[in-house]
Amino acid sequence: MNDPGADRRGRPFVVAAPSGTGKTTVCRAALERDPQLRFSISHTTRAPREGERDGVDYHFVRPDRFRELVQADAFLEYAEYTGNLYGTSWEAIEGPLAAGWDLLVEIEVKGARQFRDRRRDACFIFLLPPSMDTLVERLRSRGTDGEETIAKRLAIAQQELEAIEFFDYAVVNVEVDRAVDEVLEIVDAERRGRTSSVRERHGRAHVFKNWRGSADD
Ligand code: 5GP
Repeated sequence: MNDPGADRRGRPFVVAAPSGTGKTTVCRAALERDPQLRFSISHTTRAPREGERDGVDYHFVRPDRFRELVQADAFLEYAEYTGNLYGTSWEAIEGPLAAGWDLLVEIEVKGARQFRDRRRDACFIFLLPPSMDTLVERLRSRGTDGEETIAKRLAIAQQELEAIEFFDYAVVNVEVDRAVDEVLEIVDAERRGRTSSVRERHGRAHVFKNWRGSADD
C-alpha cells in the first residue's frame, strides 16, 4: 500500500498483555482490519517457531548480535523474557512513523514501561484475559512450550498484571472480534483526538476495577 502521506506523522500504539491473553491473535486481526496500522518488527534472540519468517514476524538474531545492537544504542526498549532477548529498534519505528503509518507495537510489559519513558506520543493499551483461570488454560493449550516455560510465563503474567497502572486503556479479551473492535475504537478515537467516550469505557482504572470485581464473584 502507498504511504499515507508525509504530512501526517504516525503514532505508536503499544499493546501489552500477560502471556497467554491472546495478544498476538488480537493484534494480527487489528492489523488486517485497519489499513493505516503497521506492525513494528522486533528483534529477538529466540528461535523461530514453525511458520515464522525472519524480517516479517521478527528479526531473528544471535545473542552476540543483539548485544552489539544494545551497545550501539539501536533499541528504543529491550527486555529479557523467559531467557530470550526482545527489543524494538529505533529503525523499526522511526521510518514508518515519519511516513505517516501508525504502528502497533506488541511487546511485553517491562519494555512497554521503557517505551513510556522514551516516547510520550505513544498510546498504551493493556489486554486482559477473561480471568486468571482462562489464562492458565490458554498457556497450556498453546502446546508450543514445555511445562517449565509455562510455569515461568504464568509467574511473569502475575507480575505483569500489576503493571497495568502504567497503561492508558484496558481491553478484556473475552471474544477476539470484540476485543479487536475495542482496540480499533481506541486507535480511531486517539487519531481523531476525541477520546472522552473511549476513556470512559476503556480507561484502564475503570476496566481493571470491573475485571477484578468479577474475578472475586
Ligand atoms: P514470543 O516469544 O511469544 O513471540 O514473545 C514473548 C513476549 O515478548 C511477548 O509478550 C511479546 O509481545 C514480547 N515481545 C515481542 N517483541 C518484543 C520487543 O520488541 N520488546 C519487548 N520488550 N517485548 C517483546
